[in-house]
Amino acid sequence: MLSIVKYPSHILSTPSSRVQKITKEIQDLLPLMAETMEKHDGVGLAAPQIGRTEQVIIVNTEEGNHAFLNPKLISLSKKTEIEEEGCLSLPGLFVLVKRSFRVKVSCQTPEGSPIIIEAEGLAARIFQHEIDHLNGKLIINRISPLKRLKIRKQLKDIKEKGFTEIKK
Ligand code: ZN
Repeated sequence: MLSIVKYPSHILSTPSSRVQKITKEIQDLLPLMAETMEKHDGVGLAAPQIGRTEQVIIVNTEEGNHAFLNPKLISLSKKTEIEEEGCLSLPGLFVLVKRSFRVKVSCQTPEGSPIIIEAEGLAARIFQHEIDHLNGKLIINRISPLKRLKIRKQLKDIKEKGFTEIKK
């Protein structure tokens, strides 16, 4: 199992770079990422969270775990939903995040085939969350400055202890 990089590590705010060549090393990393995500009860994981800077994500859907390379949001529905979101890099913190209800993502399979995925609801939310990671963004960058102020004790907790138990 791999260890999870937590806030405020700078790698989490560093944009990832495209996977140019799918090496065996990258392919071997994918099941490890999926395993790490499952062990932590996550539903998605992005490469920066395990200390890598390639555009690689794992998304858990009803059909299981899927790895995607170089994912890019190519369309976002105007219809949005506000739901509580957590992040394995911010243990114990949950905030309301507004996301598009439906998205289209262009990406590559682990074998390198280009595909377009359409997702809605939770799956669409996971894609947006993980692609945010690849752009160096966390859920705390998706909330208002006022809300961020309200969770400053929780962020301090995560910084100092690695997790927070403070309820909002
Ligand atoms: Zn996350």
